[in-house]
Amino acid sequence: MVKCVKQFSGYYGCDRCTQRGSWEGRMTYPEVDNLNLRTDQSFRECWQPEHHQEEKISPFSVLPVDMVKSFPIDYMHQSCLGVMKKLLLMWTRGKTEYRMSSGDVACVSERLEALRKFIPDCFARKARGLQEIERWKATEFRQFALYTGKIVLKGALQGHLYEHFLCFSTALCILVSPELTKSQGLYASQLLKYFVEKGRELYGETFLVYNVHSLLHLSEDAQNFGCLDNCSAFKFESCPHQMKKMVCSGKNVLTQVANRLEETSKLKMANEETVASFKGPNNVFVLSPEECCEVVSEEVENTVMCRVFTNLQPFLMMPCDSRLYGTYVASIRHSKMRCLHRKALAKKAIMVEEHGGVRIVMSILHTL
Ligand SMILES: [Zn+2]
Repeated sequence: MVKCVKQFSGYYGCDRCTQRGSWEGRMTYPEVDNLNLRTDQSFRECWQPEHHQEEKISPFSVLPVDMVKSFPIDYMHQSCLGVMKKLLLMWTRGKTEYRMSSGDVACVSERLEALRKFIPDCFARKARGLQEIERWKATEFRQFALYTGKIVLKGALQGHLYEHFLCFSTALCILVSPELTKSQGLYASQLLKYFVEKGRELYGETFLVYNVHSLLHLSEDAQNFGCLDNCSAFKFESCPHQMKKMVCSGKNVLTQVANRLEETSKLKMANEETVASFKGPNNVFVLSPEECCEVVSEEVENTVMCRVFTNLQPFLMMPCDSRLYGTYVASIRHSKMRCLHRKALAKKAIMVEEHGGVRIVMSILHTL
């Protein structure tokens, strides 16, 4: 709207490339290869008049900004509330060729509920079953896309659909992490291209709506801004949730929020050096690509006793070794107790206990 261009539902609605959409009962963007990308110059000089709203000029165009790159895709709406939700709805309510059986849907829901106790407090919400999907928030779709989906869909979703989903999940894992965006950004963009192309084959032409198509442009934004969370709306979504928790009654709401904010900032200053206690599920950390640990007890002088897991194995080998994005299988058999300094515990992780002393460990990659 602020760019005064046609919406995503228009024939020339992609704000990144010039392809003409194709109407398949809904607007789709079928081209995947050799996309003709828009530039600041082509935008300002209106090279494709059909993209712009007639006789309107964006108020932003008087500013010295790149009129294409300065308007990143918000993955909260596009990937989480868009693509992830679309996939889940197709798997639960879509055509028979890609829908899960009602038994498998129930099984996925059960697994999600069972994961709740392993989700650390840094997540605003714990996992909920698929029967509540209409009420899931963006952060729950993100949790599913980045972490829990890989576990709960394994064996429940048809193999080829699961592998296709893993391409989307892996690419997002890379692009939410500043380090991985830098080192694996190109790989993420290849995965997303494959995901979009293959999606047409698996789910039909109507799969390629704007949200899916714009995945082709997503890694460029992550690379321009450092990672997806540097240019997403999550920042604005999580604040209302935190503020809501500060309000106890309907009276003087703003005063209550202001008081709580003041208290917490004082508390933070007083406790600068103290780290939160390490109770499960908030006691798991990745130490290096070879080791992770769970804190067992707190010792003296900023040291903690940990069970350190070595010989970490990949949880998945599709589309790549999952150790690339910090997802491992750890075993009690390859663990030993070690005393560590608190400072070693910088990278938080999720640990899911499986049968027989086996644990799935997932580095927390997103930053907000
Ligand atoms: Zn495009």
